[in-house]
Amino acid sequence: MTEEIREENINNEEFIFIVRCGEVALKGMNKPYFERMLLDRIKKLLKKFDGVRAYRHEGLIYVRAEKSPEGMTLDKAEQLARKQAILKEIGKVFGVASISPAMECASTMEDIGRTAVAYMMEAIEERGVKTFKVEAKRADKNFPVKSPDIGRQIGAAVLKGCKVLKVDVHKPDVKLFVDVRHDKSYVYQDKIPGFGGLPLGTNGKGMSLLSGGIDSPVSTWMMAKRGMMIEAVHFHSFPYTSQRAQEKVEQLASLVATYCGRFRMHVINLLPIQEQIVQNCPEEETTILVRRFMMRIAEELAKANGCNMLITGENLGQVASQTAEALVVTDASVSLPVMRPLIGMDKTDIMDLAQEIGTYEKSIEPYEDCCTVFLPKHPATKPKLDRILHSESKLDCEGLIKAAIESEEIVEIRPA
Ligand code: ATP
Ligand code: MG
Repeated sequence: MTEEIREENINNEEFIFIVRCGEVALKGMNKPYFERMLLDRIKKLLKKFDGVRAYRHEGLIYVRAEKSPEGMTLDKAEQLARKQAILKEIGKVFGVASISPAMECASTMEDIGRTAVAYMMEAIEERGVKTFKVEAKRADKNFPVKSPDIGRQIGAAVLKGCKVLKVDVHKPDVKLFVDVRHDKSYVYQDKIPGFGGLPLGTNGKGMSLLSGGIDSPVSTWMMAKRGMMIEAVHFHSFPYTSQRAQEKVEQLASLVATYCGRFRMHVINLLPIQEQIVQNCPEEETTILVRRFMMRIAEELAKANGCNMLITGENLGQVASQTAEALVVTDASVSLPVMRPLIGMDKTDIMDLAQEIGTYEKSIEPYEDCCTVFLPKHPATKPKLDRILHSESKLDCEGLIKAAIESEEIVEIRPA
């Protein structure tokens, strides 16, 4: 009889994930708003899974997933794959500091002990764990046993239940956390780090200039990580750039969308503008003049679509168009603020981050970019604004920009 009741006290039906909010927790009066946004985002990303729910409780977010959703019979390997897939989705939510897959039980020493044994048995089976240490915390101060004693007693229970294990307080294979809360207790090992940042939708909207390169997907991701919604613009020079080059950019954008949600990408043919520049302006100014047109078009689109700022993947000194002087002349073409989150990073760091977020492999696929069409042999690295303005005076800038925007194509980017 008692055995039966005790079984019910350990949750064996669900995977439980404890999700910790990072900076969100520091937001004072706005905390409930940020937490709600974070929870909404988690719910949205987990919609594709059956039998999953998420909710807030005592400053944490809990995600519960039935091991086998109703109507399905998953074997152990399938359940594990489901657990990993859910974990991966939660890991993509900005604002998540860390995630712990946990086991849940009733808040009694006996049930916690039995859960800890079950947890360690699995660790021995799956990973050949030999040593452990227990770290206990009691959020419920009315719980009759104090934290150090919980640690000692649960440690003893594990030693008794798992004969092959030894305690190692310095370098244990498994550090077992025991979190005693008012209604339920949790046993877990890992604190898998999230990306941090702030929940999407808490910081305006940016118009991101998205190329097919390594940098701009990363810069877009970084602004989205600070809670910014994304809209994008991509320039091509068809037929000098191919349809396949554009498809690559769309696929790249889809990878970014797995983090920032679906967004619109304005696709603009820059060729008529490039041809006018090549025909009428000094060759060494081509790059900077093209860049100023890109910025102005992006700004028009930003204003028409409720964006607060522009985003580029520019980085100080990386190429001729990114010297301090060139960036100043580029900025002078627009009035909206231009965010360049990569400005102080080294290329190797940007590449590492691109790898981490999963855009790198797509970015290095070799396709043409509109910037490499009509590339001058010796681009001006220290352009002077008055000279550039003089060159632009030979062009019908307004007309060219208007025509470019009128011929835009809009692509709906969905998460990959
Ligand atoms: P990326 O790796 O992002 O292409 P890059 O190092 O090649 O950057 P540039 O070609 O000078 O540098 O481009 C600088 C920034 O200008 C890009 O990060 C991007 O924001 C924007 N940009 C460049 N080409 C395009 C394009 N075809 N469409 C939209 N934006 C572009
Ligand atoms: Mg590029």
